[in-house]
Amino acid sequence: MKKWVREGAVGAGLAIVILAFLSGFDFSFILLPVSMLLLGGLILNGRGGLSPRFNVNAVGNSENSSIPKVTFDDIGGQEVAKREFLEALAFLKESERTSRLGIRPLKGVLLTGPPGTGKTLMAKAAANYTGSVFLAASGSEFVQMYAGVGANRVRQLFKQARSMAEREGKSSAIIFIDEIDVLGAKRGKNVSHMEYDQTLNELLTQIDGIRSEHSVRVLVVGATNRKDLLDPALLRPGRFDRIVQVDLPDKAGRLRILEIHSVNKPLAPEVDLELTAAETTGFSGSHLESLLNEAAISALRDGRERISQTDISEAIEKVMLGEKSNRSIQAEERERVAYHEVGHAIISEHVRPGSVASITITPRNQALGYIRQNPQDDQYLYTKDQLLDSIKVCVAGAVSEELIFGQRSTGAAGDIEQATDLAKRMVFAGLSHLGIVSTELPAGELHDAIVQIIREQEQNVKDFLTNKIELMKSAAKHLLAEESLTGEAFRTMIETCGLSVQISS
Ligand code: ATP
Repeated sequence: MKKWVREGAVGAGLAIVILAFLSGFDFSFILLPVSMLLLGGLILNGRGGLSPRFNVNAVGNSENSSIPKVTFDDIGGQEVAKREFLEALAFLKESERTSRLGIRPLKGVLLTGPPGTGKTLMAKAAANYTGSVFLAASGSEFVQMYAGVGANRVRQLFKQARSMAEREGKSSAIIFIDEIDVLGAKRGKNVSHMEYDQTLNELLTQIDGIRSEHSVRVLVVGATNRKDLLDPALLRPGRFDRIVQVDLPDKAGRLRILEIHSVNKPLAPEVDLELTAAETTGFSGSHLESLLNEAAISALRDGRERISQTDISEAIEKVMLGEKSNRSIQAEERERVAYHEVGHAIISEHVRPGSVASITITPRNQALGYIRQNPQDDQYLYTKDQLLDSIKVCVAGAVSEELIFGQRSTGAAGDIEQATDLAKRMVFAGLSHLGIVSTELPAGELHDAIVQIIREQEQNVKDFLTNKIELMKSAAKHLLAEESLTGEAFRTMIETCGLSVQISS
């Protein structure tokens, strides 16, 4: 039936029902059978309000193809992951050679790693590289409250992959299941576990049913950031044979990702992407993409044709801390925030000269103020002194408040949490006065060790800042007037005050 005829009929039907209702017609005798019919229809079709329509996304860029355009060159960093994944794809790409060597088909590849690191991109690039049709679904779309619906959806997905490939004359299909942990969690663990278990069993059956002699070879690519939740049956050889770790990018990876995403963005000549890559430790690919996007929006807002380094710095803060909030803050609180941030900044310069990039008391999201530190090279190991220095920077905000106002505030809660984590790391790395300890260290002893480490650093910071009150006052005054202070301006202020921050702890 044509869409307009169908919609017209539904509209007319509704109008009649409403008119009848308004004229006092009693519908109660047909309500029950109609609702039963509707509910049955919803369940069988797997659509409607209770059971949302199953959304298999076949991705393609031309009308006739479901092969994504993304290539491995569009993925920055991830060199090891790409190499491992490419190796695994040989069975789709060079199926004759692999079968001559008697290699059994690879049925599943699991991509695991933090959100936004490019797992979906990898799966799409794999489809492009192997000329396979690509179907994507998310684990949460399979699991419903009705027994059998999820299993049916799994069957549908595999069937659809094969028929789509046949229709398009392709010999292979990649089925991408994002959040596979929702569908593949350990069996027997869920409350409505019958439905979950049936769905996972069906997935296992479908994976086991993949054969090299089938005209369409299917590869299942799963993605998760919780590999630990997966049922061991999924990970056994012959199912998800390959596990590829897709990690947060290192500095070189971040630079490559920034280059990829700035191709279509006009950057001002002074923009230094290498510096940006260095400043964005811990950012994922999606953070970096969002950062450049935000920077472009900021240029647009100011009516500029090119993206400046200031746009980028602003965007880093926005991605890290969120949008500027227009909370109105009392003058007293603002002053406290200024001294708190100045405390952090002085100690940061003390433990790592040149480390302060900016100090701000513009509230963003939950933060009322913050300092941004200049980049260091990616670091994976920390010495005891480095950890103690970081603890000093953490506690400096609270100590500064105490020195100026006589009391600390709840504003330091996040800093204390961070300092506690660092101290705990020290204890379990054998870097505290306790020496080597086992993970079974009694909670009381751990607590005492953490408190001792933090207290000592608080005392060091207090002794140090007590002699820097003049610098604290002048930096806080500037911050209160201007809202922010660059690292350079802050260092000039340190020199002007004739105060060295280079004293030993
Ligand atoms: P999730 O676990 O949340 O599903 P994901 O790991 O699948 O995330 P993607 O969906 O692949 O991440 O990435 C999201 C977006 O981030 C991409 O569309 C891309 O713009 C950008 N991105 C992420 N990683 C990279 C990368 N390595 N290179 C280039 N762009 C990237």
